[in-house]
Amino acid sequence: MTDFTLDIDGDGIATITWDAVGKSMNVMTTEAFAELDALVDQVLSDDAIMGAVITSGKPDFAAGMDLNVLAKFKQDAGDNPAKGVFENVMLMHGILRKIERAGLDAKTNKGGKPIACAMPGTGLGIGFEIPLSCHRIFAADNPKAKIGLPEIMVGIFPGAGGTTRLARKLGAMAASPFLLEGKLLNPAKAKAAGLIDEVVPADELISAAKAWVKGATDADIVKPWDARGYKMPGGAPYHPAGFMTFLGASAMVHSKTQGAFPAPKALLSAVYEGAQVPFDTALRIEARWFTNVIMNPSSSAMINSLFINKQALEKGAVRPKNVPDMRVKKVGVIGAGMMGAGIALVSAMAGIKVVLLDQKQEAADKGKAYSATYADKGIKRKKSTAEQKEALLARITATTDYAALAGCDLIVEAVFEDFAIKEDVTKKVEAVIGADCIFASNTSTLPISELAKASQRPEQFIGIHFFSPVDKMALVEIIKGKKTGDKAVAKALDFVRQIRKTPIVVNDARFFYANRCIIPYINEGVRMLAEGVEPALIENAARQLGFPLGPLQLTDETSIDLAVKISTATKAAMGDAYPASLSDDVVFKMFEMGRLGRKSASGFYSYDERGKRTGLWQGLGEHWPVTKDQPSLTEVQHRLAMAQVLEAVRALEEGVLMDIREGDVGAILGWGFMPWSGGPFSWLDILGAAKAAEICDGLTAAHGERFTTPALLRDMAEKGEAFYERFAADKAA
Ligand code: NAD
Repeated sequence: MTDFTLDIDGDGIATITWDAVGKSMNVMTTEAFAELDALVDQVLSDDAIMGAVITSGKPDFAAGMDLNVLAKFKQDAGDNPAKGVFENVMLMHGILRKIERAGLDAKTNKGGKPIACAMPGTGLGIGFEIPLSCHRIFAADNPKAKIGLPEIMVGIFPGAGGTTRLARKLGAMAASPFLLEGKLLNPAKAKAAGLIDEVVPADELISAAKAWVKGATDADIVKPWDARGYKMPGGAPYHPAGFMTFLGASAMVHSKTQGAFPAPKALLSAVYEGAQVPFDTALRIEARWFTNVIMNPSSSAMINSLFINKQALEKGAVRPKNVPDMRVKKVGVIGAGMMGAGIALVSAMAGIKVVLLDQKQEAADKGKAYSATYADKGIKRKKSTAEQKEALLARITATTDYAALAGCDLIVEAVFEDFAIKEDVTKKVEAVIGADCIFASNTSTLPISELAKASQRPEQFIGIHFFSPVDKMALVEIIKGKKTGDKAVAKALDFVRQIRKTPIVVNDARFFYANRCIIPYINEGVRMLAEGVEPALIENAARQLGFPLGPLQLTDETSIDLAVKISTATKAAMGDAYPASLSDDVVFKMFEMGRLGRKSASGFYSYDERGKRTGLWQGLGEHWPVTKDQPSLTEVQHRLAMAQVLEAVRALEEGVLMDIREGDVGAILGWGFMPWSGGPFSWLDILGAAKAAEICDGLTAAHGERFTTPALLRDMAEKGEAFYERFAADKAA
């Protein structure tokens, strides 16, 4: 059994069908590539074959490359991994280039065999790079299909010719959303954008492709870049228009990535340098930059966290084994405020029936109206229809009547963050729900084990912590209380899977995992302001580490009064153990001044009358004068990063985190932690435990005990261990 097979019809047209054995989606492997190569050789050498159609035996064309293959290239090459990667990439180029040249004579561009690609559905990554090497791309009119090159999303770039071919096909400017942002399109839009050539009814896909092969002439199969006089659309770098494009693109890439991500920069270099040389040289350049990115530890860390481990968590890597399918049919959402409204929306979108309950009918209706507004936006953008909106709203019952919760198999409570109110609601709900129903609280700060005391069945009580805005944020933190049982965990995980988000499961402790790490980041930034560090240095240091928002901007976004509330509540809970902090002084002062952040259009930043941020508030220096001696950029960055990373390590030491993969994936999806690093634990592995401990020792001496090297990290530094060695998934299981 092989992944690629070949059939020849009566007209001498070969059909090469990709149908990966034992998989629901085609994914490219080294072995499969060799099979494709052999079949292409057969097509080109057999005189009875006049041309070929490459297609898929599955509903989709292909999901891309098996990313483990790239890691294997590196491993298999022994002590010269860069050479191994480069040579393997050049082998792929050789196969795709063979398809593209299809036997054409190098001088005359004559005598080749036409090869079309027929895509029944989605084609991503290599699943679009193969079509790009063919002479004509046909796609079935399947509106659900997605076509494009999403590699940049996991920290690499299209490295099997996709970069060079798309830039030459569309021009650097038009190709940039697909290459630099990984934009995917359905077939109709892909045709309009020039990515593919034809969209045909699904049942005519193969016949249309074959008809084209039959009628194709030599001229039809010579790619523009192999024809005499080719000019790059929009101009190559030293053409006046091209010059502007590349200048603008460099600036755009840098403003988006702040230089923190290696892949977009390498991609742009590959396009820029490749545009000035013949096509085959451009492919070599692409291969060199691709090797450069693969050799950067950032790319393997990103692939692991954003692809391999994220998928493993979504597929239930940490789900209790022996619990049967616990998918939710009817969910009760209590509290129809900002969070409740969002939870109702994402549940209804997943086809789950929702009872949305609030104290007043008006409040419940307002919560439901959020879904209506969301659907309206979708209709306006042509992503949804009036019928879909109607069906969505029909699934949500807005009510004040607890009796409506009968038959729910999951409750998600999202009322005010007040212990007594939550206690009261728990009792009222439990009076009407069935014995098997699982009760979840969306609390962001209250301990689940304490809240569970109000429940008659604490083993069925759990935390399901969403992030705001619910419909946009991909992460959901599931919190196990002391008595939470496996069924509740399985239910929460099955629910999160239904609503297509990524779960992490943590144990109950103050601020759980995400907030526990993000609060010290904010505090460290605000504390630096109080110490007299230039505010722009604090913010830029964070942005250049790849954080989406600097700590001061993040405080403005989440609001100063929330920061005050959290400090006050933490102080009350910790009593004398609560450390006096410079950051509290700043936050309370801002609160006193009524500078509450974005919501009051005044905070660490200034805002114009339309609420747009205009820059750091000029008044900051009056209250917290900037000192003459400023710390280095690296020192500021170490403080901001270590403040969070050490919390992550402590969470692992304390057993709050049970799996480092969750710590890494949760950090990137939950609060945008330096995605290029693969997450806090991957970053420590890149840095090395010994170096990390040395940085912490320096920071402790200069700034205090909050940077004390955790015992676990110290131990690893002494033993020369890495997190992903010591806590490998097979060892953790
Ligand atoms: P919100 O104030 O927007 O909404 C709370 C809703 O609960 C209101 O509509 C209110 O009328 C309703 N409510 C209050 N008492 C009730 C009762 N006894 N019975 C029924 N309904 C009642 O608050 P929110 O921001 O949606 O937060 C809700 C919960 O989610 C809180 O526990 C909060 O800590 C948590 N949370 C909030 C965020 C966030 O970013 N806002 C993030 C994660 C978790």
